[in-house]
Amino acid sequence: KVKERGKAHFQFYSKEILLHQPNIVVMESYLRRSIEKNELSLYYQPQINLQTGRIESLEALLRWHNPTLGYVSPAEFIPLAEDTALIVPIGEWVFEEVCRQIVQWDAKGLQKIKVAVNLSPKQFLQPELADKINALIHKYGIPPCRLEIEITEGAMQNTTESLAIVRKLKDIGLSISVDDFGTGYSSLSYLKQFPLDTLKIDQSFVREILSDKKDAAITTTIIHLAQSLGLEVIAEGVELEEQAGFLKAANCQKVQGFLYSKPLPPWEIEQAFLYKEKSLV
Ligand code: C2E
Ligand code: MG
Ligand code: MG
Ligand code: MG
Repeated sequence: KVKERGKAHFQFYSKEILLHQPNIVVMESYLRRSIEKNELSLYYQPQINLQTGRIESLEALLRWHNPTLGYVSPAEFIPLAEDTALIVPIGEWVFEEVCRQIVQWDAKGLQKIKVAVNLSPKQFLQPELADKINALIHKYGIPPCRLEIEITEGAMQNTTESLAIVRKLKDIGLSISVDDFGTGYSSLSYLKQFPLDTLKIDQSFVREILSDKKDAAITTTIIHLAQSLGLEVIAEGVELEEQAGFLKAANCQKVQGFLYSKPLPPWEIEQAFLYKEKSLV
């Protein structure tokens, strides 16, 4: 069966692509069935308030384990899902899974924290997105303030269309975060037009803040920019105490990275972070 589907999709790709990346066709046919085969799961990574040391939110990160391909990184399959529109059903699965997880954690009486969900540009630009999200949060009875949407600068390029979408999401009561901030080749003018809540400093700037003066300057400037605009700021990819020290001194509100925790499956997140309030810094 899988082989047949693989063949059927053969014709969508040029010979050149096939020659160079024969795996893409195979991967797409597996990805197409990943939901029904129960191969997708969500891991969660804590986002920590640097001043209080408390966990304030979690980012949901998609994981795909296929029996044949093994673990495939989202950096590989998300772009493929974007190209083939598979991102739409996959994205809906992610959102519903997050809602289900929040309900389950709440039922256990765990800390009620916010969960951030990544949306790729094609997902974000679906006209029915806001209605679908609204329907899901009603179905599960989730207070909208428990959810944050992470979009990249690329999603905001088509200003009129994306502004309308962001406004709808804000009207529902969700918060909006700009992921990988500073890497999207986009003009800063969207910062004054869009009703945003958070800027996420990309890990490529954070990685060398201690050794590279330019990365340090960019990071500090993004923190100031966020503060002057009344936005929250999170630094991604924090791996070292010294990086956290730098960020704290620069007044960065929140941090996320392997220093605190790598993304973990729900049961581990639950054990390690959600039972009682504890300080992590
Ligand atoms: P992102 O949203 O910018 O997520 C952050 C990535 O950095 C995650 O990679 C995370 O595991 C990794 N990371 C976190 N802390 C550290 C650190 O201290 N050091 C290093 N080196 N890396 C760290 P992951 O999980 O492989 O996800 C990669 C990208 O795939 C995400 O980047 C996001 O763009 C996309 N993605 C993941 N899940 C979803 C999803 O559910 N939907 C959509 N549309 N995209 C997703
Ligand atoms: Mg993200
Ligand atoms: Mg990011
Ligand atoms: Mg990214």
